[in-house]
Amino acid sequence: MSQPARLQPLIPRRPPIETTLFDFFKVGPGPSSSHTIGPMKAGNDFLERCRALPDATLARAAAIHILLLGSLSATGRGHGTDTAVLAGLLGTAPEHCQPGMLSALAAHPEARHGLRLRQWEISLSLADITFGPVLHDAPFSNTLRLALVDAQGQPLLEMEYYSVGGGFLQWKGWTPPEHGHPVHPYGTMRELHEQLDRTGLTLHELILENETAITGMPRPRIFAQLEDIMDAMYDSVRRGLSASGRLPGKPGVWRKAGGLLERAKNQPYLVDRFLGKLNAYAFAVAEENAAGGVIVTAPTCGAAGVMPALLYAMRQDLNIGERALREGLLASAAVGFLAKHNAGIAGAEVGCQGEVGVASSMGAAMLAHARGNTARVVENAAEVALEHHLGLTCDPVGGYVQVPCIERNAVGAIKAYNAALLATCEEAHQHLVTLDAAIRAMGETGREMSVKFKETGEGGLAVSIVEC
Ligand code: SF4
Repeated sequence: MSQPARLQPLIPRRPPIETTLFDFFKVGPGPSSSHTIGPMKAGNDFLERCRALPDATLARAAAIHILLLGSLSATGRGHGTDTAVLAGLLGTAPEHCQPGMLSALAAHPEARHGLRLRQWEISLSLADITFGPVLHDAPFSNTLRLALVDAQGQPLLEMEYYSVGGGFLQWKGWTPPEHGHPVHPYGTMRELHEQLDRTGLTLHELILENETAITGMPRPRIFAQLEDIMDAMYDSVRRGLSASGRLPGKPGVWRKAGGLLERAKNQPYLVDRFLGKLNAYAFAVAEENAAGGVIVTAPTCGAAGVMPALLYAMRQDLNIGERALREGLLASAAVGFLAKHNAGIAGAEVGCQGEVGVASSMGAAMLAHARGNTARVVENAAEVALEHHLGLTCDPVGGYVQVPCIERNAVGAIKAYNAALLATCEEAHQHLVTLDAAIRAMGETGREMSVKFKETGEGGLAVSIVEC
């Protein structure tokens, strides 16, 4: 009997993927990679640029004007964008942000902070930050403008930054930094399969070889950094499980992770115990993220609960060894790279299908790969998880990354588990839809999606729930 043709999308050839592992998996403060990590990096970058100005210019500096636009203006208060930019300007990089630092800044909005520019100092407060119009006419929805001005308000240095999702930052006139090129170039899953067939490498080996070629990092350094990423993920699960009380913000959402875990342990059936724990792990990280705690973007802050929940469960409950976990994480990165390259991973760009949907797809790939499945099965697992998130909107209630985000992370983790199960139990060649097709559908759906459903808090659940 002839085998059914796989449903391949018509994708014009694009430049190969050059995203690196540690651009993608970033440790930083929640609750939103676009709204916290990206803006914090912008503040930090602007600080460095100011410090590089000549003495004659710095001597005239009197103030810094900060204008948040688009979705940063619409939901920036709930997401803590103002505190993130301020922390960046005060010299904090996301990877060095201590848990609680942003909430400490938010607790004193009128407090003035001295910003050192070599021997000069100017003062800055949260109250100086302007939430501008919710216009979407800039090249990217998450836009912020920073200006160093003199006493007359004349600009000495102006920058327009774009927080393009997953904590990635660009600016007006940005060009990609110089780096090496992948030794096994691919821009789609189909091309990735071609490279795997040509080289005979496993998926995780290929990702490693490309990483070294692009960054110049030797393998032991990559492994050490991957371990740091995994440790940061495990820490975020543990911190979330032991925290209690209400999350910050008007909705007054209770932290549930610890209670969910206790009740999961007492379930009479094994399957309920496992799935209940997976829920609790995902809640733990998503709640940490909502509280502004330190998490890992995977692919974003809003969706940061899915991957650690699976990783923690694979280690604690499924007894999968460290090496297989690391290899699974590398395989998951390939899925995240493909989604970012061909569609998008920011809620403001494509809705939540690009955040929790992609996280779930990555998680399914990680589990399937760690259990020793072929690249075809890994692709199918990723495809199933993504396909059943297509069309998912981004509609955070009150602009806080809490409702529906926290539960959505748990549901995304469970869907990832089921997608990996489905893919490993079916005949791989009978699976019709390709990952490329699902990613393409996500991109198209995201582009057609009304801006109301893309992280502006102006549609969906965000307006269906009475004032909270
Ligand atoms: S709804 Fe999804 S995309 Fe939107 S903020 Fe929440 S987790 Fe992020």
